[in-house]
Amino acid sequence: MTERARAEHLDAEDPLAQFRERFVIGDPETIYLDGNSLGRLPSATRERIAGLVDQWGAELVTAWEEWIELPARVGDLIGEAALGAKPGEVIVSDSTTVNLYKLAAALLAGRPGAIVAPRDEFPTDRYVLEGLASAHGRSLTLFESDPIDGPSAEDVARACGSRQVALVCLSHVNYRSGALADTRAIESAASAPVVWDLSHSAGVLAPAGIGLAVGCTYKYLNAGPGAPAFLYVREDLQPGLRNPVQGWFGQARQFEMERAYDPEPGVRGYLTGTPNIPALVAIEEGAKLVAEAGIERLEAKAQALTTYLVELHDAWLAPLGFELGSRRDPRRRGAHVSLRHAEAWPISRALIERARVIPDFRGPDSIRLGLPPLYTRFVDVHDAADRLRSLVERGEQGEVDPAWRRVT
Ligand SMILES: *Cc1c(COP(=O)(O)O)cnc(C)c1O
Repeated sequence: MTERARAEHLDAEDPLAQFRERFVIGDPETIYLDGNSLGRLPSATRERIAGLVDQWGAELVTAWEEWIELPARVGDLIGEAALGAKPGEVIVSDSTTVNLYKLAAALLAGRPGAIVAPRDEFPTDRYVLEGLASAHGRSLTLFESDPIDGPSAEDVARACGSRQVALVCLSHVNYRSGALADTRAIESAASAPVVWDLSHSAGVLAPAGIGLAVGCTYKYLNAGPGAPAFLYVREDLQPGLRNPVQGWFGQARQFEMERAYDPEPGVRGYLTGTPNIPALVAIEEGAKLVAEAGIERLEAKAQALTTYLVELHDAWLAPLGFELGSRRDPRRRGAHVSLRHAEAWPISRALIERARVIPDFRGPDSIRLGLPPLYTRFVDVHDAADRLRSLVERGEQGEVDPAWRRVT
């Protein structure tokens, strides 16, 4: 059996294979491996957004009776489909960045002490925490962790130490290496509440035993560029925390406008201003697909896809100067794999321009290949690794414009 026949066989056995047909596939020759940055467009979303536009035209402001329920309804759906949360624990609002600010500032209001996070945490998270630390006069400890294995429970316990800590913040799946954090172990090692960033796991694998989280909907939930984020507060933690960004959408009985601020109890209190309705219907369609596929099956397929890519890396790419930038144990990584190479930047440009494979580049030396299990086939993994191998064998990375780009 040829290697490609093996990939075809894996696709034939894949219980999620038919979900690919539910997405818009532009150029069938292009292999899209960046769904962990911007997920594909589900066909149903096109129709749903067109319908929403028609509804706007026909019903105007009267449609708000229906629309006003969307942040909570879609939040509940994400909670059930992707997080293992109960109704009333997830809300859709604002961006991941702003939601992290809201949860972290809510914790700081009630707890003295330091802020703790990994040094190689996603930049927006670090920026939010740095800003809050300086505004609130707190110290921020950015601790070191293994660049491939990611933060361990021991790293978190050591960084907390014996002083007072107000909050710990980290990603469930690291944006560069794909390392999957052990949520239960870290929750018990931390001496303060942990805010999890689920941006690189929501829609692929469910976190276990967490209390507070934020995350993206435009990656594995396929909700489209700039779609708002979700915020999760486990029921038992809700009474002790309050959204610091007081806006009218978080207000109980918001249209009784003369009343002083008196927020909705629970996660609805984390709403701020008017939600983006076209994006909310897109999130609903994306989350429905995740619900239908089932998070356990998605997780199993993500492990199988990344395992296949690691095998092809070892056989074809390691001899060409590549090094695996992700964990080898499939149970300890998310749905993307990082391949490190001294010429990673021109190689990633050559892949896009000359081989029709779309990865992304994360400095200093990682080519990130995202394998969203809803629509990625084993033959895509095979063909992408094959095109990558041929391109580097021919030295085609020397033939592209190496100028830096605003988006990488
Ligand atoms: C993509 C991503 C974000 C994005 O935040 P926005 O506010 O939506 O721009 C945040 N955190 C992590 C870990 C991400 O991967």
